[in-house]
Amino acid sequence: MTTRAEHGQFRWSVLPPLPLKGEGSALVESVEHYVARLAWTVGVTVRSLCPVTYSALGNSRRYQALGASGFCGPGRQFKQLVAHIERLTGSEHVRCGSFWVVDELLAVTGVGRDTKHQRWCPACFRDWDEDSWEPLIWMVEIQQTCPVHACDLESHCRGCGYAQPTCRDYRTRRQCYRCGAALAGSGRASTRSTHLAWAEQRLAELVELCATPGQEQIPFERYDAFVRGLVEISQGEPNLPATLRAAVARMRSNAVRGRVTLRTLVNLCALQGISIPQMLLDPQAAASRPLIDLWGGYKALEFPNGRHSSKIQAYRQYISDMLKKCEGRYLPPMAVVLRKMKLNRDLTRELCVECYEAYEAAYQRQGAYGSRVHFNRAFGHAMRTLELENGNPFAPYDARKVARRVAALAKVTSETAKSVTRSAAFSRRALERARVVLLQDTKGPKNSDLSKGSSVNTFSQPWYK
Ligand SMILES: [Zn+2]
Ligand SMILES: [Zn+2]
Repeated sequence: MTTRAEHGQFRWSVLPPLPLKGEGSALVESVEHYVARLAWTVGVTVRSLCPVTYSALGNSRRYQALGASGFCGPGRQFKQLVAHIERLTGSEHVRCGSFWVVDELLAVTGVGRDTKHQRWCPACFRDWDEDSWEPLIWMVEIQQTCPVHACDLESHCRGCGYAQPTCRDYRTRRQCYRCGAALAGSGRASTRSTHLAWAEQRLAELVELCATPGQEQIPFERYDAFVRGLVEISQGEPNLPATLRAAVARMRSNAVRGRVTLRTLVNLCALQGISIPQMLLDPQAAASRPLIDLWGGYKALEFPNGRHSSKIQAYRQYISDMLKKCEGRYLPPMAVVLRKMKLNRDLTRELCVECYEAYEAAYQRQGAYGSRVHFNRAFGHAMRTLELENGNPFAPYDARKVARRVAALAKVTSETAKSVTRSAAFSRRALERARVVLLQDTKGPKNSDLSKGSSVNTFSQPWYK
């Protein structure tokens, strides 16, 4: 379609090589928006660009190609998507509008929110013209305000309260996909603590690094080196406050390849009083800074957990319930807990690592892998049997009858069956108590459908929507 000169030669590209807007700055255009703009420019819909994407991925389902990880990352597919768009447009800078640079570090949930849903500044949408674009930074949970207007970023239609899917056409993405109302308007600004403004500043520096053309990917080893350096310093400091020592230990246990979040990166910077690029580009120097004075005043930054906060609180409630009297009672594996609560493992571990690790340790102490497998199978049967027996977890049940049934189904001894039955009954009650915590916490128009389900006879209802 288009030609362009490169080293004195002409090269053809399938689609026009549109430049990415805001390249090299913290306000760089997101690839998501770039693709919408590209589709609009060549006169097709974003969806009709999908079959092209589909062939590059070898993926059989169209929505997977667009949906799962989006175009900006983090995630498993976005690099292939970006590479494909770069091939189509002949422009190597498209990656600057994504988290490609820190892909080795970031967890799938690394930006702290569901990237399949749009987030916007109403004032930016109000002043929109053909030179406008949606910046990558809007996608990150830590970024709570518009960098231009300083008003709150929004993620739900003011008219009908619905969240907006992100993969929409260029011309419709500033209207509610459901009720058609404009998402534009005058901004509202809530009061915020100074550390949130500070965190937004650190994030802007990171996005700028991602947006720099030619910037190479940061290997995980760099990040790991920084965290190890930090641990070394803290070990040589006998007078460190306990909270700080705990913070360093938490950073260490969260330093896993592909499991780091932007929230952790910003917290680490707070610990050392540095920027994320300083930390990732020269880890040794950044870790070895003498920071005793700064450390004295360190307090972990408390970011709002966004839409996860009620779930996380319910999870904490459940774990503390289970651990309180766990002697003599079997603890189910974490995978079962997470599945019951519809929680993502990485996110949960990051937001409440102490809780998570304490439970994991207690679970492991219950015996070797071989014996746990039998217990886990029996536990699953006990849960199902109890659920069939009575929907209400607080209702009395015939323990002997249930245990006999579990022993027969799971082929375990009657001792084991009795133990897991007690444990399953207790676990169901703990889950219910945690569910109450969740319901109390989710009052408000957005969750009215959940609150309606809080009457006594709703035990069979799913946990979360
Ligand atoms: Zn704005
Ligand atoms: Zn609407």
